[in-house]
Amino acid sequence: MSADDVILRLVGVTQQYGRGPTAVSALSGVDLEVASGELVAVMGASGSGKSTLLSIAGGLATPTTGEVVIEGAHLSEQSPAQLARLRRRSLGFVFQDFNLIPTLTAVENVMLPLELDGFRPRVARRAGRDALASVGLDEKLDAYPDDLSGGQQQRVAIARAVVGGRRLILADEPTGALDSVTGERVLRMLRSRVDAGAGGILVTHEARHAAFADRIVFLRDGRIVDESRHDPADVLLTGTSR
Ligand code: ADP
Ligand code: MG
Repeated sequence: MSADDVILRLVGVTQQYGRGPTAVSALSGVDLEVASGELVAVMGASGSGKSTLLSIAGGLATPTTGEVVIEGAHLSEQSPAQLARLRRRSLGFVFQDFNLIPTLTAVENVMLPLELDGFRPRVARRAGRDALASVGLDEKLDAYPDDLSGGQQQRVAIARAVVGGRRLILADEPTGALDSVTGERVLRMLRSRVDAGAGGILVTHEARHAAFADRIVFLRDGRIVDESRHDPADVLLTGTSR
């Protein structure tokens, strides 16, 4: 892996909530690299620090100690405006509960990050249409979230996470609210975006879903305790639900 291929690097990341006797060490000395074309699954019990890890990786929270580097940019050296721009341009988040804006149509939800980034509405809309087409939703551009199934809503959320060529996709249990067939469809979508050159982190409880990743990292009490590496093609070829 050349240095250029590394999209995300966490170095000695520690996160402490609170102070004194009630302080919680949510993360302790976490080192992690995610390369272009690589999907890393993060597994661990509830409270092990998975969501904290994603928030820090995405610059939504600042670690107590340690460094986060996204595409060569050290987050600690960015001004708040630079950080906001980097988040808008490089990062896509997908959450368990979709987080779509109910008063905007599917395409408006997807184009929103680009509009916030100053793209002309026409350009943003075209990119939004393309992103929705890439997740198989070209027929649903003008539908509102309430008119879409859970799986369709999550595909809109994935389109929003990758629109405009975002390079790092951070997904926190994105299939939690979906039935298993729809969940796998969403994961295959995530996988194909990563295969197209993004880097991704997938937090999941299910080994079956982690099997879509190139590498699985296990967190316990805020520490990485184990890592396994395997070929996602094995799963794609032998998966039982296809
Ligand atoms: P996971 O996503 O694996 O369930 P979290 O990252 O949400 O774990 O939480 C890790 C630990 O940090 C837990 O002990 C949790 O209670 C604690 N924690 C998370 N967020 C906060 C917060 N904002 N303030 C205080 N403690 C927190
Ligand atoms: Mg969590």
